[in-house]
Amino acid sequence: MIEVLGFGLAGACVALQLQRAGYAVRVVDDGRPGSSNVAAGLVNPVAGRNFEPSWEVAEAWAVARPFYADLAEDLFHPMPILRLWRDEQDRAKFERKRPVVEPWLAKVSAEGVLWHGGGWLDCPRFLEVAKREFLANGGEWGGMGEPSEQVWCCGAAGLIRGDFEDVPHRSAKGEILTVRVSGWEEYRILNRNGWVIPLGDDRYRVGASYEWEDLDSNPTVAGRARVEDILRSFTNRPFEVIDHVAGIRPIIHRSRPVILYQKGRGWMVNGLGSKGVIYAPRVGLELVKHLSQAQHSK
Ligand SMILES: Cc1cc2nc3c(=O)[nH]c(=O)nc-3n(C[C@H](O)[C@H](O)[C@H](O)COP(=O)(O)OP(=O)(O)OC[C@H]3O[C@@H](n4cnc5c(N)ncnc54)[C@H](O)[C@@H]3O)c2cc1C
Repeated sequence: MIEVLGFGLAGACVALQLQRAGYAVRVVDDGRPGSSNVAAGLVNPVAGRNFEPSWEVAEAWAVARPFYADLAEDLFHPMPILRLWRDEQDRAKFERKRPVVEPWLAKVSAEGVLWHGGGWLDCPRFLEVAKREFLANGGEWGGMGEPSEQVWCCGAAGLIRGDFEDVPHRSAKGEILTVRVSGWEEYRILNRNGWVIPLGDDRYRVGASYEWEDLDSNPTVAGRARVEDILRSFTNRPFEVIDHVAGIRPIIHRSRPVILYQKGRGWMVNGLGSKGVIYAPRVGLELVKHLSQAQHSK
């Protein structure tokens, strides 16, 4: 019996991938909402300022996309992403990077560059559907007994506590607003110094702030103001805030996912950073390989 601690994006993908590989799995989650409950679920293959594709994004998404599609509900919403130009220098930078980002390039216009291959995953609903599938396939939730292995998927909470020795992290708090903007009719995800995701019915998700000092999950006045500024950088229409959430991105070295084994402690799967949706299914699969190699070499 393998015990998976934590059921955010990491734990859910690890548990399902282990189960699909034939392992008996038990999940223990402390019930506190992690960052997967607040994540906007954005999948942007070319996020960031420098037109740099995310690390191994094509390989990771080639695992993740079918993984999400195979669930009882496909919760991924494909959507064009318009990366607006900042200025002329920004546009020149894009031209230099053009060959590298070609796979995701749909159109270049005076407004910016349109990417295809992106969209957003409904993360809170994913956790519900994943739990249902895990239980329907014989997974255990809670329970007692000595597991053969433990896999710690505790996100930023585990990094901040120092569950594993010598894992330096630079986790970052983020805040997100859901707003109503009547009559805007923007159908693309917009991205520049932040992003806006159209949800339908005049509702949009907007984010996100970055804060490295105050690592709790409480929404703040300053965070809200920062995200409102992001929204104003995309539209001057009036808006109404209908939800405001905060969470902490688990960030380890270079924002890449990490699988680690420490004797006496077990396995750790963490460091999904701000791109958990892209990386979690593949890191789950990698963990299965590591476990099976370790068991064969015993
Ligand atoms: C504001 C914000 C916006 C984001 N937007 C995006 C986005 O658009 N796209 C994207 O891909 N990613 C986004 N992310 C990043 C994404 O949220 C993370 O990469 C991902 O959720 C991390 O998942 P996790 O499972 O590692 O951690 P978590 O989701 O935090 O899950 C950890 C789980 O472990 C549980 N736990 C902790 N300690 C214990 C314990 N001792 N025993 C049992 N259970 C325990 C917690 O309760 C929790 O359920 C965003 C993050 C933030 C904060």
